[in-house]
Amino acid sequence: MGKFELRDKIVLVAGASSGIGAATVEQLLGEGARVIAAARRMERLQSLAKDRPGHCLPLQLDVADPASAASMVERMPEGWRNIHGVVVCAGHDVGGRARFDQADADTWTDIIDTNVNGTIRVCRALIDQMAARGTGHIVTLGSTAGLRVYPGGSIYNASKFAVRAFTDGLRMDFAQTDIRVTEILPGLTRTEFAESRWGDGGRARNFYDNAPGTLAPEDIANAIVYAMTAPANVNVSQLLVEPTRA
Ligand code: NAP
Repeated sequence: MGKFELRDKIVLVAGASSGIGAATVEQLLGEGARVIAAARRMERLQSLAKDRPGHCLPLQLDVADPASAASMVERMPEGWRNIHGVVVCAGHDVGGRARFDQADADTWTDIIDTNVNGTIRVCRALIDQMAARGTGHIVTLGSTAGLRVYPGGSIYNASKFAVRAFTDGLRMDFAQTDIRVTEILPGLTRTEFAESRWGDGGRARNFYDNAPGTLAPEDIANAIVYAMTAPANVNVSQLLVEPTRA
């Protein structure tokens, strides 16, 4: 079987306003897909979609808000609702890399609510149409943090272990269909992630500068597009992508 053709297929990227999600939007557009770019920061999405009418649709989405996720499809224009695939990049580690007693419960539960419940909500909002068609592709963003725990990572690690279990479960539930389910597990990738964790651009820059190696968001977008363009009989179940120098 040949490469899976994404031309004119509709793909939703949740968490498209920066980092891995924004790079994935660009690469999917390069494959000829029509891309719904969703996140909270609409101005970022509008500049991504600028000059690409019919190809890129900005959509306001807060995955931590059940109503926002549940109403996602009905808020899309008619011609955008037949969604082939979804890439769930929405996630954060706000208040993370701290000992468990050094952040409050609301911060910790926000990480779980966004990374875990948010991923579940987005998939739930799209799965009915995929199940009815019997085809589709769900891509989640796990992490090396979902394989190996580190100090100060209890909550973020828990969230990414959960994403892995959820993704494995989805794959099993739809194994008798042509719905593909992929988990991408990036190593350290230079995005806005560390800045959003600490709310401090200088600290984030230092963190990435002092790492032995980092990936670019495009490196992860490449892995996502690889999985999504694999022949239809191939399910790329997990892809662990790490910097060469670690
Ligand atoms: P990033 O540049 O900070 O991007 C995070 C994206 O998530 C943004 O588009 C943000 O958009 C969106 N987001 C956050 N909360 C949201 C919410 N409640 N509703 C909708 N969108 C939300 O970080 P990134 O590195 O690209 O992260 C993308 C994914 O990769 C995350 O799941 C992260 O855990 C995972 N990951 C990252 C690394 C890394 O080293 N960077 C490694 C492994 C895995 P808005 O703020 O506009 O909503």
